[in-house]
Amino acid sequence: MTRPFNFSPGPAVLPEPVLRQAAAEMLDWHGTGMSVTEMSHRGKEFMSIYHAAQASLRELLAIPDDYKLLFLQGGAIGQNAIVPMNLLRGKDRADYVNTGDWSKRSIAEAEHFCKVNVAASAEGSGFTAIPPQSEWRLDPGAAYVHICSNETIIGLEYHWTPDTGAVPLVADMSSDILSRPIDVSRYGLIYAGAQKNIGPAGLTLVIVRDDLLGGALPTTPSAFNYQVQAANDSMINTPPTFAIYLAGLVFDWIREQGGLAAMAERNRAKAALLYGCLDRSAFYRKRVVAADRSLMNVCFHLPDPALDAAFLEGARAAGLLNLKGHRIVGGFRASIYNAMPIDGVRALVRYMQAFEKRCG
Ligand SMILES: *Cc1c(COP(=O)(O)O)cnc(C)c1O
Repeated sequence: MTRPFNFSPGPAVLPEPVLRQAAAEMLDWHGTGMSVTEMSHRGKEFMSIYHAAQASLRELLAIPDDYKLLFLQGGAIGQNAIVPMNLLRGKDRADYVNTGDWSKRSIAEAEHFCKVNVAASAEGSGFTAIPPQSEWRLDPGAAYVHICSNETIIGLEYHWTPDTGAVPLVADMSSDILSRPIDVSRYGLIYAGAQKNIGPAGLTLVIVRDDLLGGALPTTPSAFNYQVQAANDSMINTPPTFAIYLAGLVFDWIREQGGLAAMAERNRAKAALLYGCLDRSAFYRKRVVAADRSLMNVCFHLPDPALDAAFLEGARAAGLLNLKGHRIVGGFRASIYNAMPIDGVRALVRYMQAFEKRCG
């Protein structure tokens, strides 16, 4: 069976070998007679899956020893509140950089807990460019500086790491984590919902530096208290066991492909194909400046929205699924995460060129 190419922004495509392995192991994991979904989270079978996934991700991201890796729930939206609850540490304010809709969601949640200083905003550019750090007005008394490394809805991505000095840098990396190597030591905390580039929905990753633990608001629920979860293998409550198992298979798949450097090379090649097609065309429109374009979410518009339905219908018939843009911005979005093969991008480019010939 050949499957269509799925450009969904999330939950998103997973590597086919991972899905096949999970299917093969679904009724009987490694001769235990149990499905992973049926195992105690504290039993030795699941603990081996958990520790292997932790070790695999630590190796992939080269996570330094003074960082905890937590497998939580509640998604990135949950973290938007959980981060201030844990990281204010007695301070009353935090810096946020607004680069789009996910940044705005983070700001709105943080405002329940502290004064938010919007240190920089892409609003002036119509959210088409990341404000350069020279324009940021950082507050040295802020508890942390928050960024969204990839704005999934508009396709606006940092290709550099901000320098926030002694103030910890916090990043929502939900849609570009594991797409390239990063220097974890430049961040105080990184969080990501799994369903874009890691695995199934339900798992939320948090990578947090040890010295930031221990100062949570007293009202913080224990399931969302980083220090409590860190001291309990993220098992103060039942963790999302099946999502952790599948994410572990994805980590192993990435390592077999050559790790994050190999992923980055592939992702650059895929994005170059698609942006090349857009750049050569006078038909397709795009908004984000070239330097800040996302390598994960490629957004574009047609000159006349009356053509949108025909574009989508033709794409579906050609085996190219879920290209509709987010309802906030309209148009189209091709999400080309790690698990999207370059053949999928080639097929999309062929379709777009043929559509332009017919309708342009
Ligand atoms: C998808 C997404 C979210 C929302 O994540 P949930 O897991 O649904 O809470 C937040 N931030 C970014 C950057 C995203 O791409």
